[in-house]
Amino acid sequence: MNFMPLTARKARGEGTIVRVGDQQVGGLRLTVIAGPCAVESEEQLLATARAVKGAGAMFLRGGAYKPRTSPYEFQGLREEALRMLALAKAETGLKVVTELMDARHLEKVGEVADVFQIGSRNMQNFTLLDEVGRCVKPVLLKRGMAATLEELLLAAERIAAGGNRDIILCERGIRTFETATRNTLDLNAVPYLKRWSHLPVIVDPSHGTGHWWMVPHLARAAVAVGADGIIVEVHFQPENALCDGFQSLTPASFERMMGEVRPVAEAMGREL
Ligand code: PEP
Ligand code: MN
Repeated sequence: MNFMPLTARKARGEGTIVRVGDQQVGGLRLTVIAGPCAVESEEQLLATARAVKGAGAMFLRGGAYKPRTSPYEFQGLREEALRMLALAKAETGLKVVTELMDARHLEKVGEVADVFQIGSRNMQNFTLLDEVGRCVKPVLLKRGMAATLEELLLAAERIAAGGNRDIILCERGIRTFETATRNTLDLNAVPYLKRWSHLPVIVDPSHGTGHWWMVPHLARAAVAVGADGIIVEVHFQPENALCDGFQSLTPASFERMMGEVRPVAEAMGREL
């Protein structure tokens, strides 16, 4: 293991709690981040935000800038989406997590985001990591799809070295020989990262599986293995989603999943 003076467990001992206004990630209370893959319309975002808030989510997710593999697919509503996120935040009080793809967008994304998401594809975009390292805003750092845990920790260390210690690690599945699922959700990551780092760790069972019907199973497993929270894609009409509908829960299935996760949280001595 490389030298990591800021993010290593031994640098702090107890786990870091990342505070986001009246919410937090880390500590006894589990964090639930939910919402669409991408912000598509005011109606879509508001309906989904109200539903996930009602079911107990504390944070709203939703991409304004989408890192799509194909340049011909929906790339996100960008500034329009930021306006819609601000609206949803004002109405529901949910904290907003949205992806920062480019340092040139830092200011305008930062106006609405309570947490900057650094996506899997940018986990080793070192100039972007340096930029968010200089910010005073929490960062949700997703594991690169082909990154080792040590590389993830070193990416977090880079952010911390810039001065920003409010970092949340996220396991979102890795590429393996398996093609039946979109990714292989590496739940090994959770106890490993928590042993070697004091940073909170959350799990993304949506990208981790790529199948909506698998999401509740892996959400329960994530909590059982010690995750500090989950980030889940929810869409009010998954069949009409412009992005990742196949792995998105409906509001009803999200609510059901929350009911299933709660007893696991209790068994783990956590609150939800
Ligand atoms: C996302 O959460 O919207 C996303 C694009 O995920 P990842 O970066 O993990 O692929
Ligand atoms: Mn997605």
